[in-house]
Amino acid sequence: MKSTNPTTGETIETYDDHTESEIEERLSNAETAFEAWRERPVAERETKLAAVATLLRERTEEYAELMTREMGKPIAQAEAEVEKCAWVCDHYAEHAGRYLQDEQHASPPGSKVKTIYEPLGPVLAIMPWNFPFWQAFRFIAPYLTAGNVGLLKHASNVPGCALAIEEVFRDAGYPEGTFQSLLIPSDRVDTVLSDSRVKAATLTGSGPAGQAVAATAGENLKKTVLELGGSDPYVVLDDADVEAAATTGAWSRNLNGGQSCIAAKRFVVHDAVYEEFIKRFVAEIESFTVGDPMEQDTDVGPQARQDLMEGIHQQVAESVDAGATVLTGGEPLDCEGAYYPPTVLADVPPGCPVDAEEVFGPVAAVYRVSDEDAAIEKANDTEFGLGASIWTDDLDRGERIAGRIDAGCTYINELVKSDPRVPFGGVKESGYGRELSEAGIKEFVNPKTVWSQ
Ligand code: NAP
Repeated sequence: MKSTNPTTGETIETYDDHTESEIEERLSNAETAFEAWRERPVAERETKLAAVATLLRERTEEYAELMTREMGKPIAQAEAEVEKCAWVCDHYAEHAGRYLQDEQHASPPGSKVKTIYEPLGPVLAIMPWNFPFWQAFRFIAPYLTAGNVGLLKHASNVPGCALAIEEVFRDAGYPEGTFQSLLIPSDRVDTVLSDSRVKAATLTGSGPAGQAVAATAGENLKKTVLELGGSDPYVVLDDADVEAAATTGAWSRNLNGGQSCIAAKRFVVHDAVYEEFIKRFVAEIESFTVGDPMEQDTDVGPQARQDLMEGIHQQVAESVDAGATVLTGGEPLDCEGAYYPPTVLADVPPGCPVDAEEVFGPVAAVYRVSDEDAAIEKANDTEFGLGASIWTDDLDRGERIAGRIDAGCTYINELVKSDPRVPFGGVKESGYGRELSEAGIKEFVNPKTVWSQ
C-alpha cells in the first residue's frame, strides 16, 4: 500500500499489506476485546472518548498535515476536520449514555417491560479517502461507545491516516483490540466480512463498493449501513437572497476540492434570478485561491489522485461534447500535481455525465428552470438521494418543498452539512441507514425486549 502526495506526485511512504496471519490476529484480538469492553459501564466508555477528543485537539497540526500530504485537502480545511472529529467525540462522550438508556414501556398489569440496547460485537468499517479522519470518526465514536469494537479498512491511498487513527485510540488508553486498522486492499474485504467474528459492516463510498459489501453481508446475514454517493441539488428560487445563495453555493461545490458526497452538484436556478446568480456564482468561484494545499490561504488544492482528476476531466469533456457550455474552468491546470480548476457548466443536456453521474470534483452543473414545480422535478431527477439545499425568503415555502425532495436531509438557506446532533444518510442509490445522533448510535445495537412477569 502506498501513499502518494497528489500535490507533487511523490511517494510519501509504502506500507506492507497485513498478511493473513496478521488479520487473523486482529480478528482474534477484536473478539477477545469485545467480551471485556461490552461489560464496561457506558460512563467509562464516554470518559475514554473524551480523552480522544483531547488528544485530537493537541495533535491537530500533525494530523491535518498528514491528511493534506496524503490526499491534498487544503490545510485549513484539514484542521477543521480534526476539530470536527473532536466534536463528534465530545458529542457521544456527553450523550451516549442517554441515547442508550433502557426504554421503559407502559406494561400490562403484573408485568414490567423494557428495551435494553446491547452492542453487537466487532463492526467492520470500510471508509473512503475524502474525509480520511471524519468518515472514520463518524462511525468509531458512536459504535465504540455503544460497546462494540471497531475494525477499519480504510481507502488504500490513506494508510498513514488509518494508522494515525489507530494510534490515537491506543494513546487514549483503549484496551488492545478495541479499535484496529486493517491494511488490506478491497479484494480482501469479503474474507474479513464473511468471518463469523465480524458481526456487522458500515461502508462509506461509491455505489459499486456498497453493492459488493451488501451482497457479501447479505449472504452472511449481517447488518449493513451504506453511505454512498450523491448528486445533491441546490435549488435557488425566485425569492432567494441571490448573493448569499451564490456565495454559499460556490463553497458548497468546492470545499474539499469538490470531493464531498454532500457537495452541491446540480444548481437548479429559477429563471427570474438566473442571470444574477450566474454572474455572482462564477465571480465567487473565480475568486478562489487554487494552489499548494499546505498554504493556509489556499481554497482549492489538487484532486486526491491523478487518475481521479483525469476521470473528472473525462466527465466534463463528454458533457461539453454533448452540448454543455463551459462558463469557467474546464481543463486540467498546466502544472505539477493533480490540479483541476473549479469549473461551471451551463446548458447541461439531460443524460450527459455531469447530469446523470456523480461528479466527485470541483464541477458545478447549472440548470435554468421556469417555476417551482420544474425546480422540484429537476432536483429529484437523479438516482441519488443524499442531501438538498433550497434557497427562498419564505421558510414555509422552503419546508413545503423540502417535503417533496427525495433526500436524506434538506437544508433551507444553508449548505448541506453533517452534524453530530442530527441523523445523516441517504435514500435511493445514496444508501440506507443513518449515522450520527441517536439514530446513528442505535444502528449497531441489539434492542432487546426484557419482559418480567
Ligand atoms: P470507493 O472507491 O467506493 O472506496 C471506498 C472504500 O471502499 C475504500 O476503502 C475502498 O477500498 C473500498 N472498496 C472499493 N471497492 C470495494 C469492493 N468491491 N469491496 C469492498 N470494498 C471496496 O469510493 P472512494 O473513491 O474512496 O470515495 C468516493 C465515493 O464515496 C463517492 O461516491 C462519494 O460520494 C462517496 N462518499 C459518500 C459519503 C456519504 O456519507 N454518503 C461520504 C463520503 C464519500 P480501496 O481504496 O482499497 O479500493
